Amino acid sequence: MWIRLSLLLALCLAPAAPLLAFDLPRQQLTAGGVALVELAPDSAEEPTAKFKGKRVTVVQAGGKWLALTGIPLSTEPGEARLDFRIGQGPWQSRTITVKDKDYPEQRLTITNKRQVDPNEDDMKRIRADSTIIANAKRNWSEEMLADDFILPVEGRMSSSYGLKRFFNDKPRRPHGGLDIAAPTGTPIVAPADATVIATGDFFFSGNCVFLDHGRGLISLYAHMSRIDVKEGDRVAQGDKIGEVGATGRVTGPHLHWSVGLNQTWVDPRLFVKGLHRQ
Ligand SMILES: [Zn+2]
Repeated sequence: MWIRLSLLLALCLAPAAPLLAFDLPRQQLTAGGVALVELAPDSAEEPTAKFKGKRVTVVQAGGKWLALTGIPLSTEPGEARLDFRIGQGPWQSRTITVKDKDYPEQRLTITNKRQVDPNEDDMKRIRADSTIIANAKRNWSEEMLADDFILPVEGRMSSSYGLKRFFNDKPRRPHGGLDIAAPTGTPIVAPADATVIATGDFFFSGNCVFLDHGRGLISLYAHMSRIDVKEGDRVAQGDKIGEVGATGRVTGPHLHWSVGLNQTWVDPRLFVKGLHRQ
């Protein structure tokens, strides 16, 4: 269920949370989901929160401080601990009960064998790509820009988030985003207000754009045929950022869309109003 909560914004109390309203993602307490955890409801000062050692997005909604916590796909079912503190006060914790979720398998055939078993030169490039991608995922800016999300492209949802992937029958990383199939050249728009963190051409992901929606909420657009923005650009919801393509490791033209919280890719569908799991 999608909940819209008004922020009871008292400027004297919450200078770091400037939005009057924030559309919260839908909570899903599984690996790959998002936990909305209430912190210190009566605190005038903004709490800082960490999950598995990574800083967590904190917003003020309905007069409460909420931690929007991305739950990594690798998380086992059971209890997980979210740590937080107010100012320089003592660390406290909340428990997140993570439920089991079995994501389906997906088997894909890739004709370019180096994209399944990269050679040494490819590995050098993949390692360099990983550093850039990790830095983009770590990006943090104080201003919360994102409100509600729309879909970044019109098309058929061809691969859902979390699929256990086998390329040419070899197990590889699970799917960290949502694939939307559309012809090469279909416009891709920013699903919410953002600043462009980085753009680049990566071995697996092809032409990519990373967007920062503020306070640790980021998104990634991959396999693009064309990039229309550059690092530092400010984009509004609906602004074109590029076009669908088939660059990197793909079986056909599509947009791969990832959404990240606390350096964790979570299911993008949780952020789009009215979009239900298939
Ligand atoms: Zn994908």
